[in-house]
Formats: sequence, C-alpha cells, structure tokens
Amino acid sequence: MIKRNPFSKKITSSPVEPYVRKIVRDWADNVVIPKRRLYDEDWAEHVIIERAITSLIAEKGFQKALFPAEFGGWNLGQSDYPATFAGWLLEEVSRADAGICMSLVLCFWPLVMITVKPHVNRRLCAEFAPLFLTDKESRFAALAMTEPQGGCDIENVDLLHGKTIKTTAVLDGDEWVINGHKLWPSNTGGLADLMGVVCTTNPGSDNDDDIAYIYVPSHLDGVTQGKPYEKAGMAADKNSDIWFEDVRVPSWYRAWGPGLDALYFREVMALGGLACQVCTGVMMNVYEILYDFCSEKTLNGRPLKEHDAIAAELSEIVAAIEVCRATAFRLAAILDRPDRYGQRWSPEIIAKARANKMFVADRCMEECERAMNIMGTYGADREWDVEKHWRDLKIVQLFEGGKQLCQMESARHFFDCATL
Ligand SMILES: Cc1cc2nc3c(=O)[nH]c(=O)nc-3n(C[C@H](O)[C@H](O)[C@H](O)COP(=O)(O)OP(=O)(O)OC[C@H]3O[C@@H](n4cnc5c(N)ncnc54)[C@H](O)[C@@H]3O)c2cc1C
Repeated sequence: MIKRNPFSKKITSSPVEPYVRKIVRDWADNVVIPKRRLYDEDWAEHVIIERAITSLIAEKGFQKALFPAEFGGWNLGQSDYPATFAGWLLEEVSRADAGICMSLVLCFWPLVMITVKPHVNRRLCAEFAPLFLTDKESRFAALAMTEPQGGCDIENVDLLHGKTIKTTAVLDGDEWVINGHKLWPSNTGGLADLMGVVCTTNPGSDNDDDIAYIYVPSHLDGVTQGKPYEKAGMAADKNSDIWFEDVRVPSWYRAWGPGLDALYFREVMALGGLACQVCTGVMMNVYEILYDFCSEKTLNGRPLKEHDAIAAELSEIVAAIEVCRATAFRLAAILDRPDRYGQRWSPEIIAKARANKMFVADRCMEECERAMNIMGTYGADREWDVEKHWRDLKIVQLFEGGKQLCQMESARHFFDCATL
C-alpha cells in the first residue's frame, strides 16, 4: 500500500482528528484489511467479522461513546462536534469495510433520541448505558423503522406523518404492548441487544402525536429476529426481519412522547446524511488501490499513470473525492451546530442532508466505476477489492430511502413542492 496518502491528512480544524483517525486506521490496516476478502463468505456466521467488530466497538469503547459521562459514556452526545467526530470514524472504518461501518453507525443512530443534546433522557440513559459499558463484548443496537409495505413512506415524516406505519403500540396500564413486523434493520439477524422501534399509537393517523419511538430490549418475550439476508455486499452488516408479538415494555421506554418522538425521529433521519462519509471512506481506499495499480502496471514500458488518457481519468476521481469530502464535512458542521444553522429536525436540514447523501453516493458510485474501467478486468477481480467497494457503495446508494426519497425531500424544501 502507498506510503504517502494525501487523503489521510486531517480535513477539519480539530486537533483531536489525527489521533482518532490514527486509532481507527491502525485497527483497519492490521485487523480488517488483511482479512476482509473472507467477509463475503462469513455473512451468515460472522465468525471472523464479529472479532473485528468487537475489537473496534467494544475494545476501543465506541459503543459507549454517545452516553453522558455521568452514566459512564464519553459524553459525545453533549459535545458541539458529534457529527464531525462520527464523520472521521465513518470515513476511516469504511475505508476498511463499509459493512462494519454500518454496525458502528448503529451503535449511535438508535440512541441519538436519548443521548444527544438538547434531548438527553436521563432515566433511559441510566437504564440502557450499563448494557453498552463493557469493553469485552460488542453490544448491538438497531433502528427498526422499515416495514414490508415500504420504508420510504415511514422515513418521509414531513409528508406522511406516520400514516403508513403498521407496527402498533397500545398503552395497557403502565406498559406499551407492541405488535408488528419490521424489515432490514442493521445489526439484526440475531445480533441486536436493544432496538429503537418506530410505531404508531393510532394506525392510519397522520398526526405526529401518534408516532411513537419505543426502546425494546431484544431478549423480551415476543421479539423474534429472523435469519440474516444475503446481500450483494456489506456482509459485515447483518439485516433481517423482526417480529414483535405482544411485546411488553414499561411506558417510560417511549423516548419522549407525543409530538417530540416524531420531531427527534426527523433528526435521526437528517443524521443519515453522514452516509456521505461512508462513501468518501470507501473512495479513499479505492484511491490507494488505484495508486498502487497505476504505478506498478506498465503499458508500453511506462507506468499506467504516466499516460495522458489515464492521468485525465485519475484526476476526475481525485477531484470527486476532494469535493465529496468537502461537502460531507460541511454537512457534518451544519449538523453539529443547530445554534448556527438551524435545528437538525427542520425541513431545511433534512433537505440538505438528503441532497448531500444523494450527490455524494451517486458521484462516488460513478468514480468507483471509473476506477474499475481503468483497472480493466482487475477491477472485477476480488483480489483487488475494488469490486467489493463498488458493491458496498451501491448499497449505500439504495438504503435510507434510496435516491427517490432524497430527491423528494430535497425538492420539497428547495422548490416548495406541495404534494411530494
Ligand atoms: C444495508 C442496509 C441497511 C439498512 N438498515 C436499515 C436500518 O437500520 N433500519 C431500517 O429500518 N431499515 C434499514 N434498511 C432499509 C432501508 O432503509 C429501506 O430499504 C429503504 O428505506 C427503502 O425502503 P423499502 O425497501 O421498503 O422501499 P420502498 O419504500 O417500498 O420503495 C421502493 C422503491 O420505490 C421508490 N419510492 C418510494 N417512494 C416513492 C415515491 N413516492 N415516488 C417515487 N419513488 C418512490 C424507492 O426509492 C424505492 O426505489 C437498510 C437497508 C439496507 C440495504
């Protein structure tokens, strides 16, 4: 692998960034990259994969990062830079493996509702933090929103206000009783320890008050995680069906209550814009592979990169990486500072997050294909790992509502669309 990597330098002004990047980069270079070609065959068992995940999220402590210090966490949810910090992590982890990155993301995403200022639910932090405090075993959280009739409609809160959610939560005394069927949550297929479940308290209602976000520990009676799906890539991210049959949790496991659950769920969606850093992290590694390939491979006695036509293509790739990283970290800065840029749950920030994710995912996908075209058949050869990154990028492009939801939510805000 190349010694001089311009994309390994810091991209923000934080003095902490190089240290965080180095910790993850050392882990990536020593633990993941030498073995990642075996991950595709390990998609169901997760024998090799889980060792790598544990050495990151448990042994390095990331699984407790969001919790306030008083509950044993790193207080990241109280910082002014949680999205930027997450951005460094996501880039470095995805450089090694975008699937492991999803597992890490889900240590944070479902817990945002109760751990990030201005909405820290101390009672629920006290309840769930102990689960994540161990540095011996990985603990998995999952965000259960997608349902068989369609995930986009559930994510599209500003249009549908929860109208299509079929998973129900009924208050029975001081307990919620949950019934429903979810698909796809990352960190499921038997892994999840704790789930944040998007429910309705009044099926068919388009009133935000009826959207409920309720925490469900996975060991409870009535919770069933299905077998993992076999996907085109991202073998390290296990996804499955989940069924809830008369699952009972205390009433205070609902994150905030009528209105606020819907509001902060919108914020969770906006933070999905950090998928940009998953894409740029992947492209950082594609660049490294391409550097080696174009330096070593010769045509007519000269390294590939010394041919005009190839150098022109290489410049397109690095230009895209440069610009995508700049926009990705600008978005993180916007998400970090609601006091300057507006609340994370506002239509404006959601629109910006969706627009950035769509642009960066599309562009990185194109540039990964360009890299494969330069490499010719080696681009399709598993030995070089570029085809692995291409498969993973395609999945990033498709998840979180895919392209169409990004289009709708950004057009709606910027063009005042009335019906989308
Ligand atoms: C690796 C991976 C990880 C995932 N992790 C999670 C997770 O952690 N939690 C979770 O809940 N889900 C997760 N998902 C599911 C994912 O977020 C959904 O698949 C996605 O949001 C789309 O929902 P859907 O598949 O039900 O498609 P649908 O909503 O049924 O949409 C089908 C197609 O129609 C398009 N479409 C939808 N609405 C419109 C419209 N109004 N106009 C035009 N086109 C439209 C969509 O873009 C899509 O192409 C994950 C998926 C993958 C692949």
